[in-house]
Amino acid sequence: MTEKHMHWSEWLAEKVIEEKKEPYVISGGMTTSGPVHYGTLCEFLFPSAIKKAIEKNGKKCKYYFVADILDAFDSVPLAMEEYKDQLEPHLGKPLCNVPDPTGKSRSFGDHYLDEAIELMKRFEVDAEVIRVNEYYEAGKFDEWARFFLKHEDEARKIVEETSGKQEKKDWSAIMPICEQCGKIATTRVLSQDGENYTYICDKDVKYTKGCGYEGKGSISDHKYKIVWRLHWPAWKQIFGSSIEGAGIDHHTKGGSEDTCKAITLGLMKKDYHIPYRYGFILFKGKKYSKSKGRGMGISDVIKLIPPEIIKYMLLKPDLEENVDIDPTSEKLLRTIEDFEGATKIDLSKEDLARSDRKRATAFNLSTDKMKWNAPFLDMILYYQLYHDWEKVKELSQDLEGVEYLKPYMQEWIEQEYLPDDYRFKYQPSKESSENVKKFVAELKDGMDAIAVHNAVFEFAKENSIAPKEMFKELYMAFLGKERGPRMGKLITALGIEKVKKDLGI
Ligand SMILES: [Zn+2]
Repeated sequence: MTEKHMHWSEWLAEKVIEEKKEPYVISGGMTTSGPVHYGTLCEFLFPSAIKKAIEKNGKKCKYYFVADILDAFDSVPLAMEEYKDQLEPHLGKPLCNVPDPTGKSRSFGDHYLDEAIELMKRFEVDAEVIRVNEYYEAGKFDEWARFFLKHEDEARKIVEETSGKQEKKDWSAIMPICEQCGKIATTRVLSQDGENYTYICDKDVKYTKGCGYEGKGSISDHKYKIVWRLHWPAWKQIFGSSIEGAGIDHHTKGGSEDTCKAITLGLMKKDYHIPYRYGFILFKGKKYSKSKGRGMGISDVIKLIPPEIIKYMLLKPDLEENVDIDPTSEKLLRTIEDFEGATKIDLSKEDLARSDRKRATAFNLSTDKMKWNAPFLDMILYYQLYHDWEKVKELSQDLEGVEYLKPYMQEWIEQEYLPDDYRFKYQPSKESSENVKKFVAELKDGMDAIAVHNAVFEFAKENSIAPKEMFKELYMAFLGKERGPRMGKLITALGIEKVKKDLGI
């Protein structure tokens, strides 16, 4: 199979196996400074897909999810707006040292990390979660901090060359945490000898200002963090990464990927992992913004569709393609149908179209087993007709499936998220048109949904009515409105005998 016929997780797995040594390590990181959104979801779904693909080849693989909670707390997310007054004094401190105003987690950074871990469980992501502050506290970054301090001029030169930006005179490889105010965003190193350093806390970073304190520290105190462009290559050495991806923004010219590579090969003199890049995850065509939020986040969508469908939606596109999430009811329903169709694709077929291969592979990466058999839309239709889950089970002949999807369907109904065609009340009219009466009278017991659907077209043709008009008359007769769910499904769900009786035929 050639690369272009494979799902991206498969060819990346092949590359890892070919070029790196077992046990393979996938790493990936995230600053948990706000609610998980679709982009951050990909930060752990993508490595998890590669892990699955490597393991499918019978190889051992580990995935480290690095929570960068030693980063500075730089803005209050919209979701925490109500705690703004409590949170603002902590701006500039490491996220792991900001209290969680809800009291649920150890810290503000942990609050959103815990949320991410919770989602990883729901999405069946098998990752070893690393709180990066613990790694710093345990001294695991010390070796590299000392190395960068020793080679500070060379490191700075590489950073400037690869970023295309000249750094300030007081640029340093490390950011001390101020002993007096606890901020990490406002300090700068004044002098250093490779182990000990002096610093001043006087920077103005727009969202907060330093306290003016002048102090000293040493690497062995573990009260520092390495600057991002050096911290990133350092962690890849610490975890022994075989592969790590990043969004396109890190991979542009001047992005941190260029720095990471040049630092690893040119300064640290180490092997480079396999990098890969992925496209932007957009929401209704726009990039997600932490401060603005934007409605219909993961926590909302996960109430409407099972996690395997969200996974499918994010894993199906090409890796570098921009994915635009637009969760309108019509689009979500189309995605559900696409997912349901993917279960029927036979991957062993030689001449499978590329698009079907992608669908089937994305499906396999999303779930081990299809948890329902009857189509979601049929179940919704049955419920709208009978308002009785037992009846839905009987008609769909899918007891377990209905149980599994029930909470999601209830959400569609309660939130009034269903498209207009699925919002109706069955109200048969005895005063229906001649066409409707004639058509219904011709229906035979035992016809299935497709047969009924086709019969509408045949009837329209024979009687010289536009099919559209015929459908309209039928919907009016059953629902008192011009449109509705698929007619064949509607009539067979009601039962042909009942339909005749209800219309007085
Ligand atoms: Zn300070």
